Amino acid sequence: MPSSKGYAALDSKAQLAPFDFTRRDPGPSDIAVEILYCGVCHTDLHQARNEWGISRYPMVPGHEIVGRVTFAGSSVKKFKAGEVAAIGVLVDSCRKCAQCASGMEHFCVEGMTETYNSIDRVDSSVTRGGYSNNYVVNERYAHRIPGNLDLPAVAPLLCAGITTYSPLRHWGAGPGKKVGIVGLGGLGHLALKLAHSFGAHTVQFTTSPKKKDDAVRLGADEVAISTDVPAMKAQANSFDMILDTASAPHSLDFYTALLKRDGAMVLVGLPETPPTIGVFNLITRRASIAGSMVGGMPETQEMLDYCGKHNIAADVEVIPIQKINEAFERLLRQDVKYRFVIDMSSLKA
Ligand code: NAP
Repeated sequence: MPSSKGYAALDSKAQLAPFDFTRRDPGPSDIAVEILYCGVCHTDLHQARNEWGISRYPMVPGHEIVGRVTFAGSSVKKFKAGEVAAIGVLVDSCRKCAQCASGMEHFCVEGMTETYNSIDRVDSSVTRGGYSNNYVVNERYAHRIPGNLDLPAVAPLLCAGITTYSPLRHWGAGPGKKVGIVGLGGLGHLALKLAHSFGAHTVQFTTSPKKKDDAVRLGADEVAISTDVPAMKAQANSFDMILDTASAPHSLDFYTALLKRDGAMVLVGLPETPPTIGVFNLITRRASIAGSMVGGMPETQEMLDYCGKHNIAADVEVIPIQKINEAFERLLRQDVKYRFVIDMSSLKA
């Protein structure tokens, strides 16, 4: 069994601390990777602190993984030892339902296996994530990454990238469409880059006035400070789509009032407490409130290839694993530009 070193939360109140464990032996269709970089998603914080009430401990978070293949099983076709592979939120699924058959494995009717905090379909162990030195995964659930992008900046594409790419594509962000992004954090800054690259007119909503210049640099045509009531009212009835990436509870009513007739408010952020939703803004516009979760394997590869072609990757602050608890606190203070990525070589320090 591969022995692993990582950082884990032992309970919902604990700081993350060094933790040794084992992973399952790689089978013929599996690859093993030495993890090089792992992004820090706000989901890792929600999960480490059991904010959704579904956490299993000890928990090794991390689902934005870039690593070097150290072993490729005898049936593996996609990778050879020494190549770079990427692993996101989804590491297995039933592979036989209609969702899996159509490349929508994240909607698997039996439930997807997540990179951490899930039960492994192979050996029934609890999956442990990328804040660690290695990972074992079936090659079907690993991705190839474009060679032209910096490895640390690619890692966040595996969750923040696909979580924003998929709904922007589904709801048709593009030329002639006005798209709002709520929250300029890890997901938000990639949503902004992607929506801008798709040709949409983009408006960044932020609670942080100091992020205004960055929002413009990242692709915003306009920036609205969400506490500035006149600025928000000036945007009324004008959006085809608003993608909400905020990690903390907030009112949706400010935003639904900004939708056009038939506009969509698409939620990807997962605050600890669910939003309350006023109905009037919806019925008076025939507007929708929708949700979206990561993306399936083919669309994730499509997103990676698109990002390679258009030179899109995350703006990152690379940290050693020893700074992970500080990074979590900084996420809560909205002090991240715009994704922390752990350099996993620091585990050897
Ligand atoms: P993040 O980097 O911490 O960014 C969150 C941003 O939300 C903050 O930077 C802030 O931006 C904004 N925000 C915070 N409090 C707010 C409030 N009260 N009102 C409005 N905006 C607020 O987090 P992330 O990694 O991007 O993740 C964002 C959320 O998406 C998390 O809840 C995460 O669990 C969820 N998520 C969902 C999926 C999915 O599949 N649906 C996948 C990944 C993550 P400003 O400073 O600009 O206001």
